[in-house]
Amino acid sequence: MISVRGLTKRYGATAAVEDLSFDVAPGTVTGFLGPNGSGKSTTMRMIMGLDTPDAGRALVNGRPYPELAWPLREVGALLEARAYHPGRTAHQHLTALAAGGGVSRARVGEVLRTVGLAEAAHQRAGTFSLGMSQRLGIAAALLGDPGVLLFDEPVNGLDPEGVRWIRDLMKSLAAEGRTVLVSSHLISEMALTAEHLVVIGPGRLLADTSVAELTADG
Ligand code: ADP
Ligand code: ADP
Repeated sequence: MISVRGLTKRYGATAAVEDLSFDVAPGTVTGFLGPNGSGKSTTMRMIMGLDTPDAGRALVNGRPYPELAWPLREVGALLEARAYHPGRTAHQHLTALAAGGGVSRARVGEVLRTVGLAEAAHQRAGTFSLGMSQRLGIAAALLGDPGVLLFDEPVNGLDPEGVRWIRDLMKSLAAEGRTVLVSSHLISEMALTAEHLVVIGPGRLLADTSVAELTADG
């Protein structure tokens, strides 16, 4: 469960996010739709504790990220521009993350298989294609088997097969009862992926609605 309440973040004179409030419920994929620059990444970074709000709160399971005892086990995120050390293998990266996050090492092999990187486990991340890097990011997000997952523009730059794979993965994670929030600037993509939509214009909430309601024709 994610709760965003009165969330506000300013960079100088610009409000990247302004008094934003919404909830993300478990069991469905919720799309976070808005044009580029509308504050989606900033919101997700605040949910993940990577940015501090100027006002308001972004809560995961009722707590701000810094107060989660084992964050990796509660929330995972595929965020934009999260760099992996290029000289480390996928396996090394995930093993270090598991150790620091209180997660069993046995999960490393499991998540590498889930994302289709078992064969590439001992390749350096620096040699990975964009699609493989995305898969490594998703493996990291899934490592702690968290109930809450965030995906920031996950299909950007992927080939159609990669796009379908991520879409199906998000739907199956939601079907398992997890809370899934995925951002996109593409209405067409959201229509294929999400059952619920949180729509923002620059910094502000425009709509919080089910896709069925939006497209209702009887
Ligand atoms: P989106 O993810 O919807 O594309 P962002 O959250 O990345 O939007 O950006 C929202 C606004 O905040 C934009 O105007 C962007 O330029 C600005 N912004 C985001 N991060 C920073 C930063 N670190 N410094 C200054 N401005 C930023
Ligand atoms: P640092 O913040 O110093 O990089 P962390 O152990 O917090 O160290 O994270 C290391 C890397 O692991 C991050 O850069 C990120 O790539 C990944 N990571 C950490 N926490 C998560 C998470 N909850 N979901 C997905 N990836 C994560």
